[in-house]
Amino acid sequence: MPHVWRKLLGGLGALLASGTAIGWIYGRPEIGLLVAALGALGWHVYKLLAFDRALRTQDFEAFRFGDGIWEQIFARFAFHSERSQRHKLRYRQLLKEIRKSTDAMPDGAVVIDNENQIVMCNKAAKLLAGLRPKKDRGQRVDNILRDPELTELLRSGDSERSIDIASPVRVGDWLNCRVVPYGVDQKMLVLRDVTERLRLNKMRRDFVANASHELRSPLTVITGYLDSLADEEGLSEWRIPITQMQSQARRMNMIISELLELSRLESAGRAGTANLVDVAALVAATRKAFASRQGVAEIRTESDPDLRIRGNVTQIESVITNLVSNAIRHTDADGVITVRWEASGNAAALTVEDTGEGIAAEHIPRVTERFFRVDRGRSRDDGGVGLGLAIVKHILSRHDAELSIDSVVGEGSTFRCKFPRARVVVASPDAEEPRSARA
Ligand code: ADP
Repeated sequence: MPHVWRKLLGGLGALLASGTAIGWIYGRPEIGLLVAALGALGWHVYKLLAFDRALRTQDFEAFRFGDGIWEQIFARFAFHSERSQRHKLRYRQLLKEIRKSTDAMPDGAVVIDNENQIVMCNKAAKLLAGLRPKKDRGQRVDNILRDPELTELLRSGDSERSIDIASPVRVGDWLNCRVVPYGVDQKMLVLRDVTERLRLNKMRRDFVANASHELRSPLTVITGYLDSLADEEGLSEWRIPITQMQSQARRMNMIISELLELSRLESAGRAGTANLVDVAALVAATRKAFASRQGVAEIRTESDPDLRIRGNVTQIESVITNLVSNAIRHTDADGVITVRWEASGNAAALTVEDTGEGIAAEHIPRVTERFFRVDRGRSRDDGGVGLGLAIVKHILSRHDAELSIDSVVGEGSTFRCKFPRARVVVASPDAEEPRSARA
């Protein structure tokens, strides 16, 4: 038993015993005991009230010295209170540092709870999005930054995706928004000013589109003259150079068309969801168009005719044509190309598989870059310009789909386009209305 307890109980025992003894002298020991007990109780009540007053006035002078139970209680209380003060100070300093560092960040940071209500935000969020750190606390961030895409991003909580929204503060400025997990039940909305990047991108896009457009007219004139010269009887010694010039002019025309297609895709937003694309029919038509050509590998198709995609039919057709024409160009005539359109998990996938030359592992991440060709010399001969897969990738991203590539040199390649569930519709032959994708 601790010393202070022994002292307290010993003192109490002695007091009660003395009270009883005095009462006994007077022939009423129980009265003596009662008086002693009341005395002890009164003394502790007095100390309790004094402690309560000391707590309120913060004047603990009466409890500072001595080794009674109340002095011990005070000593323990003072120890814990000092410790908590120290912690509080440390946390306050830490909070100040965190606030200082988040305020120094050029990106806006908005901490939000599960209901999308603002918990805190930094200075940049105030500058970029006009959020008021104190006044807007507790407000829903999607009520302040009103944009359907942002609402959707907050709902999905997808930290891999980011969107660009118009700045609510400065007309013409753009903010990139990303939602990252933060703490237990919170998220952080990170806002970045991307006005300059988007402006440069637009300049580049416009330049490519305008240059391509401007090149088209002179090229049409050149091609026209070359066609006339090719038909000219008296120019037989020029036949070969003219044919070569015609072929290069056709190639230039193709590059211009693909550059214009890429520019159009870059300026277009996400593909709409109003139209249903019959992918199986497009696969069948593409097969028919290519299979009739000479020296082409066998093309097999395995399509689910009930699976449809919400999107742009011309763009999906372009994906199929690009992938199949690539497979044909890189597969010998005795090889096999298989095009599959099927349900995959709870979504759908379009796969073009060939038994052709394959792509070395180090080139795979680069084949979707513009003008990247594994074997430049060869691709030039086979009519490729290095823009096909860049176009495919753009179209897929406009349909929220992903492209994955597997390939082994000498064995073949598989290009797989995976469409998300939200874009897939299963058209039942009996039902009048198509059903949503199978769960
Ligand atoms: P290209 O117009 O040259 O085909 P792409 O962007 O379509 O341009 O393809 C880029 C490069 O990727 C091609 O030059 C080729 O080297 C490689 N590639 C594309 N598809 C295949 C395939 N099915 N098999 C082997 N290599 C391929």
